Amino acid sequence: MRIAQWMLSVLVAAWALQGMPLAADRAGELFDVVILHGRVMDPESNLDAIRNVGISGGKIRAISQKELRGKETIEARGLMVAPGFIDLHQHGQDPKNYEFKARDGVTTSLELEAGASDVDKWYAERDGKTLINFGVSVGHIPVRMKVMKDPGTWLPTGDAAHREAAPEQLKEIDAGIERGLRRGALAVGMGINYTAAATHDEILDVFRIAAAARASVHVHLRHAGLKEPTTGLVGLQEVVADAAVTGASLHVVHITSMGLRNTPMLISVVKGSRDRGLDITTECYPYTAGSTALESAIFDEGWQERQGITYKDVQWVETGERLTAETFAKYRKEGGAVVVFSIPEEAARVAVSDPTVMIASDGMPITGSKIHPRGQGTFARVLGHYVREEKALDLMTALRKMTLMPAQRLEKRAPMFHDKGRVRVDADADITIFDPEMVIDKATFEEPFEFSEGIPFVLVNGVAVVKKGQLVGGVFPGQAARAPVQ
Ligand SMILES: [Zn+2]
Repeated sequence: MRIAQWMLSVLVAAWALQGMPLAADRAGELFDVVILHGRVMDPESNLDAIRNVGISGGKIRAISQKELRGKETIEARGLMVAPGFIDLHQHGQDPKNYEFKARDGVTTSLELEAGASDVDKWYAERDGKTLINFGVSVGHIPVRMKVMKDPGTWLPTGDAAHREAAPEQLKEIDAGIERGLRRGALAVGMGINYTAAATHDEILDVFRIAAAARASVHVHLRHAGLKEPTTGLVGLQEVVADAAVTGASLHVVHITSMGLRNTPMLISVVKGSRDRGLDITTECYPYTAGSTALESAIFDEGWQERQGITYKDVQWVETGERLTAETFAKYRKEGGAVVVFSIPEEAARVAVSDPTVMIASDGMPITGSKIHPRGQGTFARVLGHYVREEKALDLMTALRKMTLMPAQRLEKRAPMFHDKGRVRVDADADITIFDPEMVIDKATFEEPFEFSEGIPFVLVNGVAVVKKGQLVGGVFPGQAARAPVQ
């Protein structure tokens, strides 16, 4: 009896070590979907081997060397089977955006930088209607715009950008953020550069609120670029201090467009903070241009010196034309998106290849024919261009930066993320299957509406949304990625 128990415990330990039930348990089972003969890569366990994957009820139920049977079979010989990519930073959150995201391997698309002021409404607009999973932060920008009655359509152009908040307005802003967090916002979003007149106290208060809700603060820094005293480093130092004194988790968005040539130094500050016990992370997109609204505070007086660029480096999204002093003035009055060629290639390369910097697209809403390609091609570009062609980083590291690390960023506040970003038994069956020799972005600054290639299958909660390289119509398996609602 005792020996039998001992043997049993050894067996149980062996199963636990493998992180999967014995295949024998599952050999006779008919799964909803099986993915056969693919090379499974899981950044959490470091599993990198040929395995069969069994999926039922939207979850991964088996990862086995034995043949599995399913009602639906995906043959993945010669292909990589990875966790679906999690994009922490995607502004365009419409059906058309989700099609591009799915074709780029993204299974969870999150708007955490700008965020929403009405979190319930944001989720309700998408519930049951999406190809992929979706989620949002409560945004300091839209909350401040609402409280200060800013006329801007997306980013502030009036008081929310240019005026200090009165004491009663500050109270309303804080209450708006607290409300969003109670309603299950995944994080707090901030774009201090866009709300340039917000005082340092106002920003610190938002960090306090986030800390109390165990929410990470996803920040576009107050300053970017190289000109003292408004450098990216100064912007970073403000929020590192706020994180340190409040205990809030900080996530710095698109570090390359903040640091420009000094991106390696900014990354070193993030690492140094972490070495000293702070919970600070960052992300980048793999491109040499940024994109934003021309009418925003980013282009207030002095923008050329601050960003080290001039008119010709700014491209009007509606037409693709580069700007002049005249067209700058005209279009700034009209308002609209621009692509800004300001990021040195070396900065993009350093950030993309750094194992501590996550990949996030900053994908834009579709507002013109020449929008930034990042929303459509970021993930395939990292895998095809930077991993395969440039050998700037290895495949497992790249996958970790787009799956496990974003999930870990959010799981403290939203426990559902414990089951995302992994190929693990009982994890959500969000899976991206790609060909490592073929995967590549096709969206460019000239032709931004091209799907990525070399990603033949994408599953969201166990349902294929991409099959044999084509979008599947009429399926809406996307679910809300949300923190617990109070
Ligand atoms: Zn931004």
